[in-house]
Amino acid sequence: MPKCGSQVLLCDLPIRLDSYTGCGHGCAYCFSRRNIDIMNIAGGESAITLERFILGARSAETTWCDWDIPLHWGGMSDPFQPSETDRRKSYEFLEIFAKHRYPVVFSTKGKVVAEPKYLDLIKQCNCAAQVSMVCKSAEMFEHYAPSFDDRVNIARALAPNVRRLIIRIQPYLPQYKREVLDLLSLYKEIGAYGVTIEGLKIFKRSGPLTVRIGADFCLPAEILKRDFVEIRRECHRLGLKFYSAENRLRYMGESLCCCGVEGIDGWAVNTANLNHIYFGNDAEFTEGMKLPCTGGCFNTFYQTKASRFSKNSYYENMMAFAKGKLGRNIYGISCEERNKNVQHIVAIAG
Ligand code: SF4
Repeated sequence: MPKCGSQVLLCDLPIRLDSYTGCGHGCAYCFSRRNIDIMNIAGGESAITLERFILGARSAETTWCDWDIPLHWGGMSDPFQPSETDRRKSYEFLEIFAKHRYPVVFSTKGKVVAEPKYLDLIKQCNCAAQVSMVCKSAEMFEHYAPSFDDRVNIARALAPNVRRLIIRIQPYLPQYKREVLDLLSLYKEIGAYGVTIEGLKIFKRSGPLTVRIGADFCLPAEILKRDFVEIRRECHRLGLKFYSAENRLRYMGESLCCCGVEGIDGWAVNTANLNHIYFGNDAEFTEGMKLPCTGGCFNTFYQTKASRFSKNSYYENMMAFAKGKLGRNIYGISCEERNKNVQHIVAIAG
């Protein structure tokens, strides 16, 4: 069954789906390495439970979701990694997505997705695609993934067959800035709608420049911001949208939904999260989110308080986090400002 964990606090598409665990692309920076041996490939969720979700079934983590939220496919493993050639699990998923025309955004670097039989199916889906490619210099960290040039061809093949093509520039490092700027016109030419960008995150401190944000070590926001301003300007000059997947700089993007899927006809993302509470003033809580026992997805934060989170509504739990110190730790927002934001949303939500 599709899952929802800690990403619910910050993400407009927090319900995730993976057809595999592990990923044969073996990127050195992959955050799945935190929990698993990524070269140990196994099947992820099943096609049967995916279809049950699409037909309305929910788990304790997703019971708050009372509409056809677009799913994010490939958050922890590439759905079109080399194993797909033999196992064809993602092909099965595509058949289900095509049958129901259920909204989904997938992220990939994999070649198999550009094969004619996959493109034929993708054309029948209601999907957006993200192709991950930073620049040629980053290839050295993407040990078994297709080359940068191959990924350009994958993106080119996907563009006419999806509702939107977004280029993921993750993980960004300042030394890539010139290359990234020079590549934007190519992305425009192959049919990309926009780019989404995020700085490198690592598990251990590396050099004096990284700062601790939650469990990760990241580049300082002011360094990233300086580069993002230039990259955004060049995107706009070329007619590309710019999205910031960097939580601290999310407001720099065209939309707080950093996947680049805002405004796709018929797609409704989840705005009931901290980004929309703090920066958008437009967080919307559905009636389903205010029901008791819909806050189970918050259990990932504190296992010891799990039963309390489970009994609460999604709304109650999100508001408690919005008032709490996470807002200060991630965004540097003062207690007074957090309370003001929360009061505003409470007044709207009734
Ligand atoms: S392609 Fe994505 S999921 Fe696969 S190893 Fe690289 S970063 Fe991880």
